[in-house]
Amino acid sequence: MNQTMALLYHEVIDDYQESGFQNKDNLAYMHKTDVFRRHVNLVQEIKEKNSKVSYLFTFDDGGISNLKSAQILEEQNLKGYYFITTNRIGTKGFLAKEDIQTLYNSGHRIGSHSHTHPMIFRTLNYKQMLEEWRISKDILEDVLGVEILHCSIPGGDSDQKTYESAHEVGFKFIFDSEPILETRFCQESEILGRFSVKAQTSDEELLKTLNLENIQHLQRTRKIKGTIKKLIFPIHQYLQNKKNES
Ligand SMILES: [Zn+2]
Repeated sequence: MNQTMALLYHEVIDDYQESGFQNKDNLAYMHKTDVFRRHVNLVQEIKEKNSKVSYLFTFDDGGISNLKSAQILEEQNLKGYYFITTNRIGTKGFLAKEDIQTLYNSGHRIGSHSHTHPMIFRTLNYKQMLEEWRISKDILEDVLGVEILHCSIPGGDSDQKTYESAHEVGFKFIFDSEPILETRFCQESEILGRFSVKAQTSDEELLKTLNLENIQHLQRTRKIKGTIKKLIFPIHQYLQNKKNES
């Protein structure tokens, strides 16, 4: 059976202050351009050995550095999946409409990352979820003149109604942040897991992930983190909301 491993990136840039959401925690999601180029090469090497897995490069938030990561992917004839926070379009550090068109016209996929990037998406009520998705989908469809079928969930916290709301507005491919290879379904929409690559992820760890050697470990760690988040939910919520203020 063929499997899909979607890698989750954010900013690929040498000066992190230029792109994306600006807060200390986001430093964990910044990759220097030479590091990202190395990761792309590692993926290419693994791909030759392991043809049963398709590797996808996905990028959240819609920071201006997306143009850089796209260029690095293009050097290797690869395409990325770019998920845009639509209320940031054209603001400092984020892609403008024309940039999104450039990415799309170069063959990259464009999807929604919600309209306002609520940090804990699952705390929204269903109506608010629908609104986040619908506004964002409309804006992107207006910018590109095509139907937008992909989305990724901001903040990484999702639940069943998160998937259902995304499905209801018409997204056929819903990316979350669970380190899962198997495609899940919400009615006929596909739910795809992702493997977050952070600044502190070593080449060795990344190789293990690409070789599917530490999937269970990653899933266990994610589960433990999820349990802790639930236990300290008020604190978790406070910290997450603080991040979004910037
Ligand atoms: Zn995000």
